[in-house]
Amino acid sequence: MKCRDFEKLMPYYFTDTLNESELRGVIEHLEHCESCKEELVIHLLLTEGMQRLEEGSSFDVQEELKATYNRAVHRIRFSRRMRVCRYFLEAFEVMLVFGILIYLAYL
Ligand SMILES: [Zn+2]
Repeated sequence: MKCRDFEKLMPYYFTDTLNESELRGVIEHLEHCESCKEELVIHLLLTEGMQRLEEGSSFDVQEELKATYNRAVHRIRFSRRMRVCRYFLEAFEVMLVFGILIYLAYL
């Protein structure tokens, strides 16, 4: 993922509205691009930080970034597990259909 692509997806990173592949791209990009990490902090301060300060509540940028990152990683892991479950279910369905066909063939 290029920095330009990251910038387009960045607002959606905080709203948890990226699909799994976009989310994975964002996370991988953040792991090696210091410039985009800084952009992320600025974006967070300008959006969430200003709103929280207006409401009078406290705001910790590092905590927010960590929480968002953890949510993203959790979503990626959850999606991966669901995909594995789906494969097993499909395999089970195929075996079930074959089982029924074999059963019917011997009736
Ligand atoms: Zn970048």
